[in-house]
Amino acid sequence: MPEQPQDSLLGLDYQELSEIAQRYGQPEYRARQLFDALYPQRLSELDSVSTLPSPFRAALKKEGLEIRHPRIEKSFQSTDGTIRYLIAMADGETVETVWMPEGDGGESGDGTEAGDSDWRRATICVSSQVGCAVNCQFCLTALLGVKRNLSAGEIVGQVIAVLNHRQVDMERQRVNIVFMGMGEPFLNYPQFMKAVRLLAEGVGFPESRMTVSTSGIIPRIADFGGEPLRPKLAISLNASNNEVRSRIMPINRKWSLEMLLQAARDFPLRNRERITFEYVLLDGVNDSVAHARELIELLRGIRCKVNLIALNPGPGIDFGTPAEHRVKDFQELLAKAGVPVFVRRPRGLDIYAACGQLKRTVA
Ligand code: SF4
Repeated sequence: MPEQPQDSLLGLDYQELSEIAQRYGQPEYRARQLFDALYPQRLSELDSVSTLPSPFRAALKKEGLEIRHPRIEKSFQSTDGTIRYLIAMADGETVETVWMPEGDGGESGDGTEAGDSDWRRATICVSSQVGCAVNCQFCLTALLGVKRNLSAGEIVGQVIAVLNHRQVDMERQRVNIVFMGMGEPFLNYPQFMKAVRLLAEGVGFPESRMTVSTSGIIPRIADFGGEPLRPKLAISLNASNNEVRSRIMPINRKWSLEMLLQAARDFPLRNRERITFEYVLLDGVNDSVAHARELIELLRGIRCKVNLIALNPGPGIDFGTPAEHRVKDFQELLAKAGVPVFVRRPRGLDIYAACGQLKRTVA
């Protein structure tokens, strides 16, 4: 699996840029100028980095070093303002990145929908791998299998490509990042974490505005808990017992529900932080009253909230979407038991941009 492409400056951290500056006999402050151009300023061409002397720029280019933003190949706009981007990497592989603007809605997504220009805040859903190996049975990305990991530069590059396309001003506008696109971030852990640091220290995303979702890669949950700088943690749970979870998420055969919940209990939460458990409701599979009661017992003692998502259907997925009243009943049972619970609206359903629908569809 490739790491940082050798010819791309995007994805290098301050230390690596400093080594480049040294190699070219440049003073240390050139590394800072490069870093600022790459991340806070989000420049896409070395030629526009006017702070650098032109002989230095020319020398970098002579060696084949460039900024190399990933290219937006296509974009699809939903009636709800969501935009699904098909983004091409240097080797031609594509991933999907989703822009979700919001009006003044709260976390439960109960606010007004925003059009193209009147958003108050937005969320970017970012991919971490080309495809995914985890094979969740309700997810269209799983049908692709995994092709390769993305480098830190390619992960950061998706965010920058979308920020630039939407002309976002990070000082004045509020954008969140969720690592919930294609791929399992914890199976590409070093590059994912490097991207997180660059987004936080470079592009300007506070760690509290980033959330990563894992299907339950237990050893990495522990590593993640020990990181000095880290996004919030979401766990894609989707079942209240091992029988159902192993059926819909084969990863559960390796790391059981008990192991997963123990990892959640052991996870060092910050002040006022909660773990998010995502629960995709599949008609007649995991959405009964009995399942809700089982789930309440499972989550007892964990500082958490639950996001319910009624399945977003797609071709090749053998599950149905539960009726609205079943979703409501499930939510009410959890709420009555004191579990903070939200029903997530699907975003960009009409353009295959909703949760579990990212499959590089081009029509
Ligand atoms: S839900 Fe996430 S982890 Fe599961 S197959 Fe889809 S992309 Fe992979």
